[in-house]
Amino acid sequence: MSIPSIVVERLSKTFGQHPVLRDIDFTIHAGEMVALIGPSGSGKSTLLRHLIGLTRGDRGAAGRVRLQGREVQAGGRLARASRQQRCRTGYIFQQFNLVGRLSVLTNVLIGRLGCMPRGRALFGRFTPEERDMARRALARVGLEALADQRANTLSGGQMQRVAIARVLMQDTDVILADEPIASLDPRSAREVMQILERVNAEDGRTVVITLHQVEVARRFCKRAIALKAGRLYFDGPIGELTDGRLTALYENAGLDEL
Ligand code: ADP
Ligand code: MG
Repeated sequence: MSIPSIVVERLSKTFGQHPVLRDIDFTIHAGEMVALIGPSGSGKSTLLRHLIGLTRGDRGAAGRVRLQGREVQAGGRLARASRQQRCRTGYIFQQFNLVGRLSVLTNVLIGRLGCMPRGRALFGRFTPEERDMARRALARVGLEALADQRANTLSGGQMQRVAIARVLMQDTDVILADEPIASLDPRSAREVMQILERVNAEDGRTVVITLHQVEVARRFCKRAIALKAGRLYFDGPIGELTDGRLTALYENAGLDEL
């Protein structure tokens, strides 16, 4: 039996007096592609950040999170994720977080920085092998032809594909994507989802992705984890998320949620 990718045990989190995650438990196995859904403010982003330890020195957290068998959080403390651990988890953001004035290729190479020995993590010090690797990553997201263009000249959908190529430069076993298609038009959104699907299927990387649109989750993910007001509301095959359950999930949420 392989080590589970992500194990979350009794994870709780409060911001001041405000509970945001309450006693969350789940296990995600290597190679799964899981949709994390729930209304705005239900705690999806907070949960995703806790999976990698992006929130440091966190006093309001309790419970355990293990990533690839290694503790990211024990009790109230977040262990400082090791360099190697950070390199092995790719994070994709709604707003892409590219460096606009740099070339597409350099933005992809930046994915390599966290994996380098400290001394070499300086711009312009990439090896020819790394440059080849970056071009291959760009080819996988269909943007090889744009390698030398400045990142800020791209469309939103292209920028997100560059962000995925950047993640492919890390030796990631786990990709966490927080609303990666929320600011994209439907066609770009579909392309980005198809790329993530391929990366999951071909490389066996675990993908956890927060999504606004339940129909997109249905199309691309077998399993859904749903949060409602910081509690685990549903965890199982997405086909078991019936209309009735979905209505109850988004009950009392804003109209824009469905
Ligand atoms: P989601 O991603 O599902 O929309 P979030 O995880 O962003 O939800 O937020 C969950 C709750 O935590 C919200 O009520 C939000 O206002 C609160 N929250 C998130 N980040 C902070 C923070 N840094 N300080 C205080 N409250 C926060
Ligand atoms: Mg969010």
